[in-house]
Amino acid sequence: MRYRKIIKVLPVVLACIFIAHCLSGMEKPEQPGGVESKPYRYAPGDAARMEWDRGLFRLSLRARRFAQGNAVNAEIIITSKARLPRPHMEYDGRAVKLIKRDRGYGAMLAIAPDEKPGEKTITLSWERDGSRTIYNFYLTVRSTEFKKFTRAINLGRFSNISIVPSQEVLSFIEECSRKKREVFDESTSGVLKGPISHPRDAHFVTSPFWASRRYQRYRVAGGKRFYLKASTNAHSGVDLRGEVGDPVFAMAAGRIAIAEPMYYEGNYIVVDHGNRIFSSYMHLEGFAVKEGQNVKAGELIGHVGSTGLSTGAHLHVSFSIDGVPVDPISLLYTGLQ
Ligand SMILES: [Zn+2]
Repeated sequence: MRYRKIIKVLPVVLACIFIAHCLSGMEKPEQPGGVESKPYRYAPGDAARMEWDRGLFRLSLRARRFAQGNAVNAEIIITSKARLPRPHMEYDGRAVKLIKRDRGYGAMLAIAPDEKPGEKTITLSWERDGSRTIYNFYLTVRSTEFKKFTRAINLGRFSNISIVPSQEVLSFIEECSRKKREVFDESTSGVLKGPISHPRDAHFVTSPFWASRRYQRYRVAGGKRFYLKASTNAHSGVDLRGEVGDPVFAMAAGRIAIAEPMYYEGNYIVVDHGNRIFSSYMHLEGFAVKEGQNVKAGELIGHVGSTGLSTGAHLHVSFSIDGVPVDPISLLYTGLQ
């Protein structure tokens, strides 16, 4: 009976451990809280670029690196006077959502952090008068050395998988999951536009994107601890240093899809940038915006805190493109205007 109960709550406890990566906040922040109120003017280094000229159009790509975990800004610039039909784009076999721009089309590609490095095909195609035109472009995707933490971390009571959350807590967790599914599954018609803003007023990464961490797990039986194989997870966003009350800014223009307390994320904001592109901000102290509100890039949306499963004040920010997580910092290199 007891084990059945443990098995029942195991996914919940594992999820707790999965989210409770935010130990980085234990480091002492270097900035006093709430002094600055403008987004950090992040000066990205050289971006990687690729461009192909096919006469009728040019395809240009820009990213921090063409490597795992990076966002890539793709632009199709129509150079001919001939009116081309709306193209269909695929990256590595996955359809990419195109948006109309002044001189052609734009798209944000996501190189998944767990994607196999190597040569990838970008396909542009259209149909006209019953015939199909196809252009293939080849992009070499490099691997990224994601940080690896080897020592298993003790998460205190969250390492104890025997703790059974109350029915009230379980219901709250379920309610939070439902809301997130609703928001992340929906594809709204908005368009991700530049500029891209840094989400904080200071740049100090305390835990990088896709860092892998190991967490101790044990169960208690007959008053004894039995250690299980440590669980491992990949950090789905970036942790940025900050003290309680420091400002948090929207990374790009969009609509506030979530601004409410959640079990794991604490006070949680999700900005919907349209076409299934989202930025998310966790563990906030408070909100400066309401759900449904439109925000601009660099607009104050909340304040750094340590709510939810967090052991110290910091900002966890994540960015996803059509369900694929990418390093939020990589967006700052895409030159999106
Ligand atoms: Zn984090």
